[in-house]
Amino acid sequence: KILQYGGRHERKIRVFCRIRPVNRAEAAQGGAVVVEKIDEYSVTLETPRGPREFQFDKVFSAEASQEDLFHDTSLIQLAIDGYNVCIFAYGQTGSGKTFTMVGDKEQKNPGIIPRSFNAIFDIMQENSCKFNFKVSAYMLELYNDRLQDLFASQAGEAHAHTQSRGQARRVEIKRNRKGVVFAQGAETKEASSAQELYALFQQACANRHISATMNVESSRSHLIVGIMVESRNLTNGSVSAGKLSLVDLAGSERAAKTGAKDHQLKLQEANSINKSLSALGDVISALSAELPHVPYRNSKLTQYATRVKAITNNAQRNVESKEIAQLKEVIMKLRSGQAVEE
Ligand code: ADP
Ligand code: MG
Repeated sequence: KILQYGGRHERKIRVFCRIRPVNRAEAAQGGAVVVEKIDEYSVTLETPRGPREFQFDKVFSAEASQEDLFHDTSLIQLAIDGYNVCIFAYGQTGSGKTFTMVGDKEQKNPGIIPRSFNAIFDIMQENSCKFNFKVSAYMLELYNDRLQDLFASQAGEAHAHTQSRGQARRVEIKRNRKGVVFAQGAETKEASSAQELYALFQQACANRHISATMNVESSRSHLIVGIMVESRNLTNGSVSAGKLSLVDLAGSERAAKTGAKDHQLKLQEANSINKSLSALGDVISALSAELPHVPYRNSKLTQYATRVKAITNNAQRNVESKEIAQLKEVIMKLRSGQAVEE
């Protein structure tokens, strides 16, 4: 199925680059634009040591709309076909991860998550004469290496009484006898329409942890949305299950940049964010190099959110691609506390 997409899209890991438009504050300060799209697949970045070129599976310019970004729904189709698919946004705070994944606050420009909800139900509708579908979801937050269930009603109650949203039920990562990784204690809820799924998502977002000292909401925690799609073939009764993981990662910046008052807490936060992002880099490297061992277990983030097992197809012996090597390099630098050119 994956091979049919051909060319660059054969890769089981695809890296896209989206350039965020300059905002008003940046324009007012006379900030220079340091990144430029050269063609569909490459950008140049002005660095103190001169321009550097980066290659991607696709580059979206600052003018690209949310529609442009979501134009290709083949990944959603794959999840419905029974594959495990994960889409995540990586970048420093303010680079546009939440805008890309979730959209703007008023949802005038919905992002990948709400659009995926619509696409899932649209695709299911088109196939409803051949298949019976069941859609369920869990929504988690990973904060300071702790997974929290954003559906747990406790989270909302804790907020009402203490203003602390960190009290939700603990979720543990387990592996069942078949070797399938799952989040024990995470509530899954069924949805029978895109609207219902979106309502669940809004409920989950309201339960997110918001660090009191950060003005940028939710930038210190990873948001993980898992959508399970079960389909039963009405002709032969066979059942398949796929999963779409949609992740809005925490900011990739270093602790020193956050300007936080409470250094101890901030360092702990930054360390656990860097730890999980560095583990993510290791997993991506291992997957793309087709290593026999993929170190999923080194962090909760990779253990659960980015397991792309079904796509580790032997047929694809390609790539340790350049951009993945670069991502790894950046992550290694972050881990050792070196400066990185974002
Ligand atoms: P992050 O989640 O990476 O910290 P945000 O998504 O919150 O960053 O983006 C920072 C700000 O820039 C927000 O006000 C957001 O609405 C705006 N923004 C980001 N990307 C775009 C875009 N492509 N077009 C218009 N505004 C954007
Ligand atoms: Mg964000």
